[in-house]
Amino acid sequence: MGCSIVFTSMEQGKPASPSQLEHQRRTRSMLEDCSALIVDGHFVYASGHHGPGWIAKDVINMDPTRPHALGRMLAEAIEESGCELDLVCGPAIGGVISAQYTALALGVECVFAERVRIDDSEEFRLKRGYDEVVSGRRVLVVDDVINTGHSTKLVLSAVAAAGGEVVAVAAWISRGNVGVESFGVDTFIYLDEVLLPSHAPETCELCARSVPINTRYAHGAEFIAKN
Ligand SMILES: [Zn+2]
Repeated sequence: MGCSIVFTSMEQGKPASPSQLEHQRRTRSMLEDCSALIVDGHFVYASGHHGPGWIAKDVINMDPTRPHALGRMLAEAIEESGCELDLVCGPAIGGVISAQYTALALGVECVFAERVRIDDSEEFRLKRGYDEVVSGRRVLVVDDVINTGHSTKLVLSAVAAAGGEVVAVAAWISRGNVGVESFGVDTFIYLDEVLLPSHAPETCELCARSVPINTRYAHGAEFIAKN
């Protein structure tokens, strides 16, 4: 079972611009250099499916020069898109780092939304007076890695609930499982797209070959404890 890493344009149906290709090349090279992109492991994802690939985004953040550089590239891409905004909002915890460095490069303010549990469901909220800060303003939502877009959509709801207008979504990396249309905005900008295949445990070739499950990242440790 191989791990497909696909090199694509950021805007569906449009050829990538020279700067987009350069951003993509630099982002991929950074992921590889710091070993944040793992393609030959055996991981258990939040969905319960298994696959060989993982993006260890916490490794990226260990050296602040990396989120700094990624934030500058995102800011360039946002400026190139012509998107006009007033401030940036990211989801706590990890997304705050990508949001802060992007806001720094754009020269705008930055706030964050926090995950709250309500019975069995979850949502994001703007606390600390940030709800008043975003009210009536144009907001760019920034995250590090967007997979299904579930958390991102919750942040969009939090901004809308506070009276802010989300004008675009941006991320370092899209896992290719969500498109701009599902965010209800005109612009979804990301620097690189990394597609990682996954399979139900019953059809997992890595399990069939007894490849050890990674317990450091994702949900491998829980999976092993239950089985
Ligand atoms: Zn497996």
